[in-house]
Amino acid sequence: MNKSPQVSVRTMTDQNLTDFIRCPYRFFYTHIEKKKHPLGWRQGIQHIINKVVSSYFQLPQSNRTPANVMKLVDQYWGRLHLRMFDSQLQYYMAAAAVTDGLMRNLSSESEIAQPLFLYEKFKMNLKELNADLSLTFDVAEWQQDTFIVKKFLVDADEQMLELYCHLTVVFSEKVFGIRPSRIEVVTLMDGERHVFIPNNDSLEAGLNYLHMMKMLLEDTNRFSDLYNMNECPACPFQDDCDRDEKNEGKQKYLS
Ligand code: SF4
Repeated sequence: MNKSPQVSVRTMTDQNLTDFIRCPYRFFYTHIEKKKHPLGWRQGIQHIINKVVSSYFQLPQSNRTPANVMKLVDQYWGRLHLRMFDSQLQYYMAAAAVTDGLMRNLSSESEIAQPLFLYEKFKMNLKELNADLSLTFDVAEWQQDTFIVKKFLVDADEQMLELYCHLTVVFSEKVFGIRPSRIEVVTLMDGERHVFIPNNDSLEAGLNYLHMMKMLLEDTNRFSDLYNMNECPACPFQDDCDRDEKNEGKQKYLS
């Protein structure tokens, strides 16, 4: 990392915020310095999950069966390489957990005739933050005069769940003028379904949260207080990372 790099955030996306929560240095190397790095197992699996969920909802409703979920997982899982994983055991355990989780969760969604959004990415300018905001809605289902938003993730900790809910509420209210009635996040590695019900205070809480995140993203001096060493063993930047250096000087822009 360059000496005390200043970061000016012009665009906040679900991806760069998630990476920041996992590790601020990793966010810096990936989204500011744009260093190339091999796809990790988590990203690889997330890509497969997105493909399976998207393909599933494009099937005719009568074909949305557990057997077809399994077929789709089989079809896409072969794109992952064993070398992306720490061990063969991890590879097979992940395959079992994701297959089981998708079969259970997608089969219960077979009554959705046509999702309102299916992996649709939206971008908006948020003047309160003087930044653009970008978010992908995995699956949204229209219900009476509002909608339900669903997301399927490999895994997520409390901070990531909080981030996703705030982003979804702010985006829905600011872009569509509608508060979602429910936000559901399924974390497939542990098989959990996390449900959030936004209320009247959620928009303000979301804006405050995003304001705080923007300040953290731009304050590289605090990165050393925020990184999580648990992320290091599987990190592609281990050899380049100067996580303990505090430096000065260069202006960088995230766009
Ligand atoms: S090695 Fe650790 S501190 Fe450095 S970027 Fe990777 S996860 Fe972050």
